[in-house]
Amino acid sequence: MRLKGAVDVITGASSGIGEATAYAFARSRARLELGARRLERLNAVAEKCLKLGSPAVNARVLDVADWSSARAFIDAAIHDHERLDVLVNNAGAGWRGRLQDMPEEKVDELIATNLKGVIAMTRAALPSMVERRRGVIINVASVVAFRAAPYSALYSATKHAVAGLSHALRGELSGSGVKVCVVYPAGTSGTEFHKEGERGSGPRYSAEWVANLIVRTARFPRRDAMVMRLRLVDLAEPVFGGLMDHAIGEVRRRDVPERTPAS
Ligand code: NDP
Repeated sequence: MRLKGAVDVITGASSGIGEATAYAFARSRARLELGARRLERLNAVAEKCLKLGSPAVNARVLDVADWSSARAFIDAAIHDHERLDVLVNNAGAGWRGRLQDMPEEKVDELIATNLKGVIAMTRAALPSMVERRRGVIINVASVVAFRAAPYSALYSATKHAVAGLSHALRGELSGSGVKVCVVYPAGTSGTEFHKEGERGSGPRYSAEWVANLIVRTARFPRRDAMVMRLRLVDLAEPVFGGLMDHAIGEVRRRDVPERTPAS
């Protein structure tokens, strides 16, 4: 996909990876439709995108968890540009702890943002992309879509679902000119995702690094775009899978206030 002049929608562009992705696309002179709930933050991002070289930027309030908000957002983007080239489903929410301690409203929020949000935006964007026989949909999953993380059970489940949805849809759309891709970031710094004091594990990638991976994926659409660490984990899985479950559980338990009683 040639990015100069392309019309790119980015959800969750008010901070972190989404914000960095907006800047990376702006440097490629793409036209941008930025969405999130915090309009003030989005407006500041939009202003910077214009300075970086984007010829047109719109910032609009978007709640991906709301069907009508998702539809209205895509309709407005198509109305303004008469087309849509790239959709980056980046908006996401996380929660860490024991599944049994997770508040019900958090359960609803994660499913609505991470899964229903991707479905709502994709369903809204597809008719126009299919009609034009052109488009790239990039769904931002996570390493936990590949290897589920203890104490992030529901988050892992939503990201597995995003990967499954994307792969199935990629097949459904084969030959249509529309490509569906999954990007799997690992721990990323420069975002609001991790709570202060949360230790996490391993080195972190920068939001800019992940943004560049997303832009490369838009330029050269591929099924799965993942970091090398993840490929190594995948190779090790058949032999060390059980050991990794235990080790990751031990590491992540340090961030959880109460230990699960030994059974
Ligand atoms: P941030 O918390 O910095 O960004 C999340 C973005 O999503 C914000 O812009 C937020 O904007 C937006 N958002 C949340 N809920 C909604 C909603 N209902 N409707 C519209 N926008 C919403 O986190 P990251 O940048 O780190 O996360 C981006 C993506 O990367 C997520 O999908 C996350 O799961 C994934 N990821 C992150 C990793 C990390 O270590 N940071 C690792 C692996 C994956 P607003 O509040 O203004 O609506």
